[in-house]
Amino acid sequence: MVQINEALCKGCGYCVKFCPKQILQIGKTRNRRGHFYPEMTHESACITCAVCAMMCPEGAIEVSKGGDDA
Ligand code: SF4
Ligand code: SF4
Repeated sequence: MVQINEALCKGCGYCVKFCPKQILQIGKTRNRRGHFYPEMTHESACITCAVCAMMCPEGAIEVSKGGDDA
């Protein structure tokens, strides 16, 4: 599962750009710092590859395996 700590996000869009499944997009809501942060569009399609977390310069994304996918 992917957790986005929206408060840390600076809206750079790297996570959106590099997600191999293209399931992140910049949303329409600003965080406290005034940045638009990403939202996941198709959570069930996520392969928990953690590319989004690795690309994030702010450490705003955490990816954990587990749950029901093998
Ligand atoms: S873990 Fe991988 S597939 Fe899931 S949102 Fe992040 S980059 Fe995309
Ligand atoms: S890579 Fe990090 S800082 Fe950049 S948009 Fe994604 S969550 Fe925000």
